[in-house]
Amino acid sequence: MDKEQHSMFDAVLARLDKAAAIYGLSNDVAEVLRHPKREVAVSLPIKMDDGSIKVFEGYRTVHSTHLGPSKGGIRYAMDVNTDEVRALSAWMTFKCAIANLPYGGGKGGIKCDPRTMSVGELERLTRAYTRALVDVFGVNKDIPAPDMGTGKREMAWLLDEFNRITGEDSPGVTTGKPLTLGGSKGREAATGRGVMVASLAAMKKMGINHKGATAAVQGFGNVGSHAARLLVSKNIKVVAISDHTAAYYNEKGIDVDKAIKFVAANGNMLKGFDGGELISGNDILTLNVDLLAPCAIQGVITAANANDIKAKLIVEGANGPTEAEADEILNSKGIIVVPDVLANGGGVTVSYFEWVQNKYGHYWSEEEVNTKHDASMTQAFENVWFNSQQYKTSMRIGAYITALKRIDKAVKYKGNY
Ligand code: NAD
Repeated sequence: MDKEQHSMFDAVLARLDKAAAIYGLSNDVAEVLRHPKREVAVSLPIKMDDGSIKVFEGYRTVHSTHLGPSKGGIRYAMDVNTDEVRALSAWMTFKCAIANLPYGGGKGGIKCDPRTMSVGELERLTRAYTRALVDVFGVNKDIPAPDMGTGKREMAWLLDEFNRITGEDSPGVTTGKPLTLGGSKGREAATGRGVMVASLAAMKKMGINHKGATAAVQGFGNVGSHAARLLVSKNIKVVAISDHTAAYYNEKGIDVDKAIKFVAANGNMLKGFDGGELISGNDILTLNVDLLAPCAIQGVITAANANDIKAKLIVEGANGPTEAEADEILNSKGIIVVPDVLANGGGVTVSYFEWVQNKYGHYWSEEEVNTKHDASMTQAFENVWFNSQQYKTSMRIGAYITALKRIDKAVKYKGNY
C-alpha cells in the first residue's frame, strides 16, 4: 500500500500492543495475534454486460481460529486491499471474543464499485468469488456475512453457488441470508440495534438521561439507518444524519422513518431529502450533540478533527472510524468512546444466532432473537466497562483486554506452536 496512507492493520497492532502491555499478555501470544493465520488473494475474470472481460481482485483473510471457525463479512468497495481486509479480520477476532462467541475472525472483500455494476454482473462476480474460495469457506471453517456494499442478495448467491459445488445444503456456510433461505429474524437490524443498546448502556454509566438526549448519525446504510431508527424509538433526538451524498441537520429532530423511505425510493441516496437543513459531510462529526454515532466508513475521526468534536459520547457503529492518533485526544477531552469491536458486535451476535438456528433447523421468533441479542450486548458492555475500570484505561483498550483474556486462554490450552 501507499506509504503516505495510514495502514489500518498498523492501527490494530497499535491498540493490540497497548492492551497487551497493560494486561500483561505474553509476547508469544501477542506475536501469534500480530499475524493472520491465512490470506488468500484471487483474480476473478467476469464477463461484463457489454461482452468485455474485466478481472477483479478478491481477498479473504482468516486472522484467527483459536476460539472457533473464523467469522466475518465480505465488503465490495473500490478501496478494498490486503491491508484493509487483514485489519478487518483481526477486528473480527477481537469482536467475536468480546461478544463471547465461539468464533475466530475473518474478513473478505472484492475491489469493485457495486453502485456502477448491473445485478447480473454482481451475481457473476459473487459466484466467481465463491468458486475461488470454496475451500476456505465452510460451516465449521470460515463463515462469511454481509458488510459494506453487500447484503442478503449477495449471501443468497454465495450460498447457492457453495451448495451447487458441494452438492449439499449448508445454510450455515454464510449468515445475513434472506429469511426464506435460513436467515434469522432480527439479523438485518442487529448491528444498528447493538449501537442503540450500547448507547443506552453508556449514557446510563455517564449519568445522561437518554430521553431527549441528542444524536448525530453518520452513514445511512444498514447500520446507520437502523441505529438512527432505534435511537429515536428510545426517545433520543437524532438531529443529524448523513451518507456519501449529503448530510442534513434538523434541530427539532430528523423524521428518520421518512428518511428511510426517501432513501429506498431514491437509489439509496439521501441527497434531496427535505427533512432538514443541508450541512457539510464533515460538520456532522463536530455538532454539539450528546452522542455521535459514526456508522459509515473507517478513518473519519482523525488527529486533525478530534479536537473539534463536541459529543460527550461516541459509539462506533462503523469499523475503524477513529484513527489511533485520535484516541488520545478524545480521551484527554473526557469523551467516552464505545469502540467498534464492542459497539457493532450486535451484527455478528445475531449472525451467530442464525448459524445456531441453521445447525438446529429450528427457528426463533424476532422477539426471542432481540431479547437474546440485548442480553448478550449488555453483558459484553458490562465486561468491557469492568475491564476498562479495573485496568484504569479507555473503553477501547478495556475491550481489547476483554478479548485478550479469552483468546490468551484458548491459545495456551491449544498450545503446540
Ligand atoms: P452500507 O453499505 O449498508 O452503508 C454504508 C453507508 O455509509 C451508506 O449510507 C453510505 O452512503 C455511507 N457512506 C459512505 N461513505 C461515506 C462518507 N464519506 N460520509 C458519510 N457517509 C458515507 O454498509 P453498512 O453495512 O451499514 O456498514 C457501515 C459500517 O459498519 C462499515 O464500517 C462496516 O464494516 C460496519 N459494520 C457493518 C455491519 C453489518 O452488519 N452490516 C456489522 C458490523 C460493522
